[in-house]
Amino acid sequence: MSDCIFCKIVDGKIPAKKVYEDEDILAFNDISPARPVHVLVIPKKHITSLATADAEDTLVLGRILAKANEIAVSQGSPDGFRVIINTGRVGQQEVPHLHAHIVGGPDPVGPMLKRI
Ligand code: AMP
Ligand code: ZN
Repeated sequence: MSDCIFCKIVDGKIPAKKVYEDEDILAFNDISPARPVHVLVIPKKHITSLATADAEDTLVLGRILAKANEIAVSQGSPDGFRVIINTGRVGQQEVPHLHAHIVGGPDPVGPMLKRI
């Protein structure tokens, strides 16, 4: 998708600090980290969000999760991490190219959400 910022990172048109790459997925550091480890893992193929993903995307979605621990450990989060996939308006997704946030570091990341 030509006007998508994460597609531009995949195409090398915008720089990013890549931490993992294979033929289907790319992982790079978040430009504005919320934790000592904050990596975004994306499908190289443009998928807007989990709300638009379909059965064809099952494999690449699985790859993102299957690689999460390796990426987290390699970046300095050896004892676990959190995966967040913000989706659509309610999920407050800002970048409309599906991405999993992997957040972690040496210390626990904090509470998930405030209870209602
Ligand atoms: P979300 O709200 O889930 O859509 O998160 C979008 C994330 O993308 C935010 O954490 C941003 O800091 C991050 N981000 C935006 N532009 C870039 C970029 N050029 N390189 C790396 N991370 C980015
Ligand atoms: Zn895209």
